[in-house]
Amino acid sequence: MKSKLVFATNNAHKLEEVSQILGDNIELLSLKNIDCNDDIPETADTLEGNALLKARYIYDKYNVNCFADDTGLEVEALNGAPGVYSARYAGGEGHDSEANMNKLLAELKGNVHRNAQFRTVIALIIDAKEYLFEGIVEGSIITDKKGTAGFGYDPIFIPEGYDKTFAELGNEVKNTISHRARAVHKLCKFLNSIQ
Ligand code: IMP
Repeated sequence: MKSKLVFATNNAHKLEEVSQILGDNIELLSLKNIDCNDDIPETADTLEGNALLKARYIYDKYNVNCFADDTGLEVEALNGAPGVYSARYAGGEGHDSEANMNKLLAELKGNVHRNAQFRTVIALIIDAKEYLFEGIVEGSIITDKKGTAGFGYDPIFIPEGYDKTFAELGNEVKNTISHRARAVHKLCKFLNSIQ
């Protein structure tokens, strides 16, 4: 019988990406699949802390093996900001990508030091044991938005080794080199090793 694993998300894009890498051995369930409509707390001040908070919430309430992720854009010249606050960098309820990018470009205006990295942390809980997996893609922040694909900060981030932003490269390229893909590959390698 396939083992079940809950991914603490309802983001269809993330579910699809992970289930493709995981293959057929594991039945991946979303929050919707387990009838969870809760507003899961994300109040930690690190990516690791938030990923663990979310995974522990699901494990404790539903008693199922599960994992959760958290991602941030870490800009060297801003001491790692926006980091864990990437979604709500410009304030408000968050997820206003245009406002977030405008704020970041304003903060870096005139600054030649534009190194940055996307970092994803995945927290996995299997039979009450906790594991963390990290994926990083290094790159730099350009001065003007370019491209229309992707989401979040994609139009202003150029991954190392490329001369186009994530938003210009498109999902096919992005999904092979992204922070999330790298973390997910580590998770999948681990899961396949304990099957
Ligand atoms: P989450 O933890 O995946 O929800 O990501 C938090 C925030 O980081 C998002 O709201 C985006 O602003 C940003 N972010 C995460 N992943 C990406 C990405 O792949 N490209 C651009 N921005 C991202």
